[in-house]
Amino acid sequence: MVSYSELGLVNTRELFKKAINGGYAIPAYNFNNMEQIQAIIQACVETKSPVILQVSSGARKYANKTILRNMAKSAVEYAHELGYDIPVVLHLDHGDTFELCKDCIETGFSSVMIDGSHLPYEENVALTKKVCEFAHSQKDYVTVEGELGVLAGVEDDVSSEHSHYTQPEEVVDFMTRTKADSLAISIGTSHGRTKFTPEQCTRDANGILIPPPLRFDILEEIEKLIPGFPIVLHGSSSVPIEYVEIIEKYGGKLSDSVGIPEEQLRRAAKSAVCKINIDSDGRLAMTAMIRKVFAETPDEFDPRKYLGPAREELKKLYMHKNQNVLGSAGQA
Ligand SMILES: [Zn+2]
Repeated sequence: MVSYSELGLVNTRELFKKAINGGYAIPAYNFNNMEQIQAIIQACVETKSPVILQVSSGARKYANKTILRNMAKSAVEYAHELGYDIPVVLHLDHGDTFELCKDCIETGFSSVMIDGSHLPYEENVALTKKVCEFAHSQKDYVTVEGELGVLAGVEDDVSSEHSHYTQPEEVVDFMTRTKADSLAISIGTSHGRTKFTPEQCTRDANGILIPPPLRFDILEEIEKLIPGFPIVLHGSSSVPIEYVEIIEKYGGKLSDSVGIPEEQLRRAAKSAVCKINIDSDGRLAMTAMIRKVFAETPDEFDPRKYLGPAREELKKLYMHKNQNVLGSAGQA
């Protein structure tokens, strides 16, 4: 049994309160390797931003849960070494069973998501409530994120063919009965790098796909029903065209890539949305740099020579997100 306070981590409670009052969102960045966690911490220390380190069940399978937990612990010490202590949350992304959430809670996670959004409503309520009761009864209060509504797209083990928007009238009932600390909603964001089909989009003069706008009307209705309650957006990468172009220039093929425009995320961050999940953009940044190094220096075979530039680009991307999209820079 490891409690997160022993690792120097915090839960999301105070962070979300400040974020809602301050009109910004906390970045939730996924990680599963060393270069990613270095880039996240460097970027968040330099921009003085709080951060949520996210681990999916796919990442646990890939990297081993003990290694990931100790990486999060190291992240706290690393920030300190870099000269500025920032609040760090270790969060389970898309927990799908009570057992997985329990295991994370007992091994140092300060926050978990239980995603019962694919279940019938009453089953989602029951499962989320069960996780909350367990998480909230720990010596160190572990925060829980629930989800209502289904996002389209693919994220590790999470996939769903169709999305349906969160129904505002269900939100109050769900939150009252489950006691979840925050809620992920579906207002048009989507997992992966192809967030919409070309048919769902329009094209600009250069033929670039323009996605349909987020449903801010649903967000506003939810805010009115539960004022001050922390809302979470998943699938909020913007899929920068520059990265897609570099990847395709050096032999990759990522047709029909389209993300959520950053202006829309900035607008969302100013509302009750206080956690924004970004994963695909980091994957694109790393892949773009690695492909570039491979193409330009075919005789290179030292992993540090391509993972290093990938890490550098990732850090730049995260600094940009904190400063210009989420508004979390300067808030730690
Ligand atoms: Zn997600």
